[in-house]
Amino acid sequence: MKPTYIEHIGIAVTNLDDSIGYYEKVLGLECYAIEEVPDQKVRTAFFRVGDTKIELLESTDPEGPIGKFIEKKGPGIHHLAFAMDDVAESLKHAADQGIRLIDETPRKGAEGLKIGFLHPKSTFGVLTEFCGDE
Ligand code: ZN
Repeated sequence: MKPTYIEHIGIAVTNLDDSIGYYEKVLGLECYAIEEVPDQKVRTAFFRVGDTKIELLESTDPEGPIGKFIEKKGPGIHHLAFAMDDVAESLKHAADQGIRLIDETPRKGAEGLKIGFLHPKSTFGVLTEFCGDE
């Protein structure tokens, strides 16, 4: 049930293209994918830093989760994603510990991974994502 590594850090941005410029020009990282996830009303851009990815999230709808997040808190770190061997089992384990879940069961996220979120009210303020192939 232990995370194997930090899969990605999700960062809410107001403008994907401007943000990509920063990660590429200043940090020297390479954006290897841009993907729209209509389900979550976002456009995402990915960078690799070792085993971990940076996932930039631009809202495509002010009523979507990222649109609401930016309105409330402004751009910045949005969530932390742990790689888990078994996302469904890990969500169940968290629920058994009294953690409030946003996703009771895994759903499909960017890059075809299975994902599930834990509610930040239960995780000391950090929106936490589990993701993996299973
Ligand atoms: Zn994520």
